[in-house]
Amino acid sequence: MASKPKSDHDKRKQISIRGIAPVENVGNVKTSFNRHLHYTLVKDRNVSTPRDYYFALAHTVRDHLVGRWIRTQQYYYEIDPKRVYYLSLEFYMGRTLSNTMVNLGMQSACDEAMYQLGLDIEELEEIELDAGLGNGGLGRLAACFLDSMATLGLAAYGYGIRYDYGIFSQKLDNGWQLEEPDDWLRYGNPWEKARPEYMLPINFFGRVEQTDSGMKWVDTQIVYAMPFDSPVPGYGNNTVNTLRLWSAKAPNNFDLRFFNNGEYIQAVCDRNLAENISRVLYPNDNVFEGKELRLKQEYFLVAATLQDIIRRFKSSKFGSRESVRTSFDTFHEKVAIQLNDTHPSLAIPELMRIFVDIENMSWDKAWEVTIATCAYTNHTVLPEALERWPCSLLERVLPRHLQIIYEINQRFMNLIREKYPGDNDRLRRMSVVEEGGEKRINMAYLSIIGAHAINGVAAIHSEIIKADTFKDFYDVFPERFQNKTNGITPRRWLLLCNPGLSDVIAEKIGETWVTNLSELRQLEPFADEENLLRQIMKVKQENKMKLAAHIQQKYNVTVNPASMFDMQVKRIHEYKRQLLNCFHIIHLYNRIKKDPSAKVVPRTVMIGGKAAPGYHMAKLIIKLINNVARVVNNDPIVGDRLKVVYLENYRVSLAEKIIPAADLSEQISMAGTEASGTGNMKFMLNGALTIGTLDGANVEMKEEMGDDNIFIFGMTVEGVEELNKRGYNPRSYYEKNADLRQVMDQVNTGYFSPENPDLFKDIFNNLIHTDRFRLLADYEAYIECQDKVSDLFKDQLAWAKKCLYNIAASGKFSSDRTIGEYARDIWGVEPTTVKLPAPHEHADNSNSVPNP
Ligand SMILES: *Cc1c(COP(=O)(O)O)cnc(C)c1O
Repeated sequence: MASKPKSDHDKRKQISIRGIAPVENVGNVKTSFNRHLHYTLVKDRNVSTPRDYYFALAHTVRDHLVGRWIRTQQYYYEIDPKRVYYLSLEFYMGRTLSNTMVNLGMQSACDEAMYQLGLDIEELEEIELDAGLGNGGLGRLAACFLDSMATLGLAAYGYGIRYDYGIFSQKLDNGWQLEEPDDWLRYGNPWEKARPEYMLPINFFGRVEQTDSGMKWVDTQIVYAMPFDSPVPGYGNNTVNTLRLWSAKAPNNFDLRFFNNGEYIQAVCDRNLAENISRVLYPNDNVFEGKELRLKQEYFLVAATLQDIIRRFKSSKFGSRESVRTSFDTFHEKVAIQLNDTHPSLAIPELMRIFVDIENMSWDKAWEVTIATCAYTNHTVLPEALERWPCSLLERVLPRHLQIIYEINQRFMNLIREKYPGDNDRLRRMSVVEEGGEKRINMAYLSIIGAHAINGVAAIHSEIIKADTFKDFYDVFPERFQNKTNGITPRRWLLLCNPGLSDVIAEKIGETWVTNLSELRQLEPFADEENLLRQIMKVKQENKMKLAAHIQQKYNVTVNPASMFDMQVKRIHEYKRQLLNCFHIIHLYNRIKKDPSAKVVPRTVMIGGKAAPGYHMAKLIIKLINNVARVVNNDPIVGDRLKVVYLENYRVSLAEKIIPAADLSEQISMAGTEASGTGNMKFMLNGALTIGTLDGANVEMKEEMGDDNIFIFGMTVEGVEELNKRGYNPRSYYEKNADLRQVMDQVNTGYFSPENPDLFKDIFNNLIHTDRFRLLADYEAYIECQDKVSDLFKDQLAWAKKCLYNIAASGKFSSDRTIGEYARDIWGVEPTTVKLPAPHEHADNSNSVPNP
């Protein structure tokens, strides 16, 4: 049973950024809560579980969204603005309850209401399962963008897939990762509204028929796409946008072969085959896996979404006299489609198919409108992550789309031939159809050709794609290439997850930074005010104590809350170099063992993240970190000077708990490999210092805060290139550096795996022979830099001053800034300043939207 809160009630102070709690609001929340417990949950308080209380509160809060949601959609129908469609195979939303309360300004009222009912609201919030429909940064970016688009009042829609199973739940078993299915819908999802009446048919397989009126895709198999809508409230503006996720439904005549043969039971069971399309999220981060089911997912999202977009375009109030738009020539003036990576890039040939085959537009006009409508965001330059679909697979699953892609490519090749006569190598390099071995379609090339804007996600990344990854395309279309440095929403990543720091900031500079994060610069003049620095340190210490208690309870590891909380949380990938961090831990351990009385700056190193289930090296790295932790944590000589904690099942809700407690953020990827990173920004905003390479957004973080406030080490992109030109010899670093040699030998010879001395040999061999991400070349610089970090930590006030400079300089990394740039430079839409009026109980239905 949820019991009376012990101490935390007045921690969440009732300042206005979390809403005000007048008696009547509190009374209304209590009344509504009790009504839902009775009518929705069908329980009384004698038999209610904490989960019942969570659902009663969720429904209470949800009620406050409904009128605003309907009103917002009516408003869009009335004024018919240009719509923005954000297409993504991933939306890593995390929890919704607390975010909704924060954005609606009703957190204080709910807090007080639960308190008066003898319930602990924080305990109820913990019951909500994360919506984990994403792998990492790319999916979380989509979620932050939804928050910013609603907060800026854009007429925007997120479109994705309602996976029955999100990212797997990670369990550790003797230090090995085990995957458990994420059955997140088990208890029902109070934040979604099914819309079975708007179900749409999606075609697969079949063949193409040449007819008098053009090409026809016939003999297809149909699967239905059922929309589920979730509200996306803006912060403090009464805007509520929609995230529409599609779920696969078999048609009632699915598999007629069996129905006709009287094999009724078999036929019903086989409905699962069709419905498997939306069963599970592919758990790869930055890796392409060319599976048929994944291709079907990508097309399923694209085909359902485009039907919806076109239906909305045609049914516009201002379409024509018959209220139906008949011309698509101005489609791009009313529709902007953003492709989150190439995952939804079939939107380009699908839009062409609709325009040419169904709406009878000329190819040239259709192509012009398609380009003007679509924009593509590139998220990585790692070759293994770029989607290249086999033509044989496309031909079977989407035969008409393959034809259209061939036609697009042929016309593009003609253009290149004209521009570069006789340059056959260039033609080969730039062809969307890759020959040599199995024929494949390069989806990034297709996306560049079919979009008017292509953007990287941090300045350095956008330069790399122009100079290297897509150089040939930049030469042809220089005006299409842009940069849009990523951002994070300050609502979830400061206001919600770190109320203590939010209050300290609000007391100093007011509250408007929540929607105008660059105002954090106003903190800079106070950098020498010891009182403020002490307040920041106090909040950090409280956050650390809370996390220490969590770790004690969950892992039975006692951590020293005075030690430096050194964190690296992100997907496990060789390019992110968790191994480098692990080698530093071993190095510190060896130092203590060599001189047991050494005075070292105590550290608690926390590492967390999931490995793709099929990524053997990543899983072995997790095992190594856990084995090092076992040795270090159980060595009495070490005491509380060094502890290592593997944070199991890293996800959005865990990120919200740990990031506010971090002293040091590890952003140590090989330069040129991390497109942007967004974890780095969350730590900076919460007053952690960064140790990192000049990679991704770290470069711009350094520019914003100044060189003295960040710990930069290691090779630059140019440094890596020079090293490669000279010829990289990993063994030479092993031979030159005795300290590194000791660490590597320990890993190689079973120091951390006495029961199986060969266990980590693959790690050693991989590094000594290949070391693709140049870890050994950066090792020495990393260790030296970590020593500087430890030195500074001894002077807590000097440390706190740099924390303040980090917070003050983090304004650029608000996703509001990012979305403002997309709106202006790519979508051609204006952030609206109109604040919709709050609805009065029921929205006015007299002028309602026929089909939202
Ligand atoms: C922000 C975030 C990420 C991205 O982290 P990076 O360090 O940028 O890779 C991944 N997972 C979760 C749960 C996040 O919140």
